[in-house]
Amino acid sequence: DGERTVSRQEQLGQLYPPTATLSEGQRRRILVTGGAGFVGSHLVDRLMAEGHEVIVVDNMFTGRKKNVAHWIGHPHFMLIVHDVVEPILLEVDQIYHLACPASPPHYQYNPIKTIKTSTMGTLNMLGLAKRVRARMLLTSTSEVYGDPQIHPQPESYWGNVNPIGPRACYDEGKRVAETMMYAYRSQGGEGDSSMEVRVARIFNTFGPRMHPNDGRVVSNFIIQALQGKNITIYGKGRQTRSFQYVDDLVSGLMKLMNSDYELPVNLGNPDEYSVKDFALLVRELVRNMDSQIVHLPATKDDPAKRKPDITTAKKELGWEPTVSVRDGLAKTIEYFRKELEETGEITPT
Ligand code: NAD
Ligand code: UDP
Ligand code: UDP
Repeated sequence: DGERTVSRQEQLGQLYPPTATLSEGQRRRILVTGGAGFVGSHLVDRLMAEGHEVIVVDNMFTGRKKNVAHWIGHPHFMLIVHDVVEPILLEVDQIYHLACPASPPHYQYNPIKTIKTSTMGTLNMLGLAKRVRARMLLTSTSEVYGDPQIHPQPESYWGNVNPIGPRACYDEGKRVAETMMYAYRSQGGEGDSSMEVRVARIFNTFGPRMHPNDGRVVSNFIIQALQGKNITIYGKGRQTRSFQYVDDLVSGLMKLMNSDYELPVNLGNPDEYSVKDFALLVRELVRNMDSQIVHLPATKDDPAKRKPDITTAKKELGWEPTVSVRDGLAKTIEYFRKELEETGEITPT
């Protein structure tokens, strides 16, 4: 006596982060492509916590196993190492299609591969969605607006993209991916039914699990400040970006997926900074005045300003960002501090 059987749920609770229990009817099988990446892994955490079954499909180009390692072996979780450029057969209820490198150095590393990922990859996921009648969400980007001539950018703006510039493989890839989403919606359904598609246009997002070699401004500046190295501004630093914390984005993606709104929706935080002011803010928050701010040559076709108009998300999804840039940066700085301590790139304080 004194013994008792440990339930399956309790066993799991000791091994994994907590997950809610859903009835068979409420539990969905959800595919997250790119789920081992920065945004994808946070989305996986939220879907798992809600009690859903999650399948991650990722070719590990910029994704990392450690981003989802805490779920490996969980009966609701599966990681499939697969390239979305190749067809795949799965049975799922919803598809969050994130697979695509997102930082300029990564997507410019092999532009043809980036184009294939956005075109053939999205086509395959649409074919899958059509076959199993799954609702599909595409993570598009504010880059569809290119170097915008309207400020801030509403979804109705058609954009200003150089089709043969260094950013084109990503920008045009996402533009055609959006085109395919709506072409399948009107043409791809069985019989009279149309397919269910959702399109999120994501603005610059940051947070823990960004790849240290990501090359985007947030990770570069934080790592440079933590190491007391020069903070590298490309050009004069007058260009602007608006920065959103990853938890807000994940809430927006889930609200959009489960809403009835079918047209593209901007998801971003309208809090706009010049790159120069952003560099000063990061240096202040890291508290390392050893770092000097230096200017490197501007990159080609760098958008001069970017800020989301989020009227649609507020109205249609009841969504708006809740985490301030300062609070989000504090969490992200702590994450990078730990990463760099683990790899011995900075000494613990
Ligand atoms: P990320 O690079 O961390 O994640 C992308 C993931 O997709 C990685 O795990 C990578 O391995 C995987 N992947 C890439 N090509 C693939 C392929 N051919 N087959 C299978 N998997 C593949 O980038 P992220 O910031 O998490 O971006 C996720 C999505 O959000 C992307 O679609 C990106 O375009 C979009 N987005 C992100 C931002 C942002 O600021 N983070 C802004 C706009 C749009
Ligand atoms: N596809 C896939 N998984 C599926 C269904 C389709 O990967 O479960 C791929 C398929 O191989 C094709 C693409 O999705 O390359 C588009 O499929 P669709 O049925 O629209 O076109 P078709 O197969 O008729 O060319
Ligand atoms: N940037 C910079 N220094 C860096 C990295 C980026 O000044 O080390 C600038 C870049 O030129 C751009 C902005 O920061 O104007 C945002 O760049 P990022 O690569 O993060 O994303 P983008 O919005 O350009 O896709």
